[in-house]
Amino acid sequence: MSEVDRQKGAPGRVKEVTSLANPLVKDIKALALKKFRDQQNAFMAEGLKLVIDALDLGWTIKTLIFAKSALGNPAVEKIAARTVASGGDVLEVSEKVLAAITRRDNPQMVVGVFTQRFVALKDIRPAAGDVWVALDRVRDPGNLGTVIRTVDAVGAKGVILVGETTDAFSVETVRATMGSIFAVPVAKASVEAFLTWRKGFSGLVAGTHLKGAVDYRSVDFGTKPVLLVMGNEQQGLPDILAESCDRLLRIPQAGRADSLNLAVATGIMLFEIRRAALSLSPEA
Ligand code: SAM
Repeated sequence: MSEVDRQKGAPGRVKEVTSLANPLVKDIKALALKKFRDQQNAFMAEGLKLVIDALDLGWTIKTLIFAKSALGNPAVEKIAARTVASGGDVLEVSEKVLAAITRRDNPQMVVGVFTQRFVALKDIRPAAGDVWVALDRVRDPGNLGTVIRTVDAVGAKGVILVGETTDAFSVETVRATMGSIFAVPVAKASVEAFLTWRKGFSGLVAGTHLKGAVDYRSVDFGTKPVLLVMGNEQQGLPDILAESCDRLLRIPQAGRADSLNLAVATGIMLFEIRRAALSLSPEA
């Protein structure tokens, strides 16, 4: 008998669900909408590796959903047992239910519903060498997810979302992070709260701007903390944020494009700021 089968004896823990009308399935499907994600303080992440990584990093799993066909897979059995042990529920569902939950024809075998987690701005106290990224009113979930993934990849510390932004825990954002949502702290702040916090920031606040007079490659980012401030996709940085930066940097361009995509520009900046810290040697 498999671990999951054994746990079906524990009431309310492992449930078999085949009907789309099941209230548990309805609640999980509702997580596609921000209103319900906020109501339930939850979000969905797809894929076995992501769910394992999230548990390893200490995220709280509310519900583990897996396809019937995954029954007997040792890794799935293991995370099912971990979910039950931490007080979460496990749903063994039909392919049809999984496709409905993920809104995909070929869904992943495993989906986890996790508790959302934001870091409070007041708890961000950057130390020497730390790099944070502030995103002004980021609109596109693909951009936000890609920035979070890149922040993770370069070993920067986290992301601050300033103003009205797309949701860090939407299905699209989480997909684009490729799992980095679980490794990168994200904070949310109004412009006012951000500007107040920025006053206490002791390192270099580097804004990027299409009218910036300084070539980003000419700056010595040194060892102080760096806060990289990136503008909104349509409007760029508003004056109030641009004026709060110590320097306004530009990435030189050729050709006809007016500007770079936000996530691409963030990536170029982050690799430059972290240049000295990154190496191919295993110790890095
Ligand atoms: N129309 C917008 C504007 O006037 O700024 C374009 C915004 S761009 C798509 C999004 C953000 O990426 C910018 O606000 C800036 O932070 C950054 N960015 C894009 N290309 C850049 C460049 N060549 N130099 C510096 N920053 C750039």
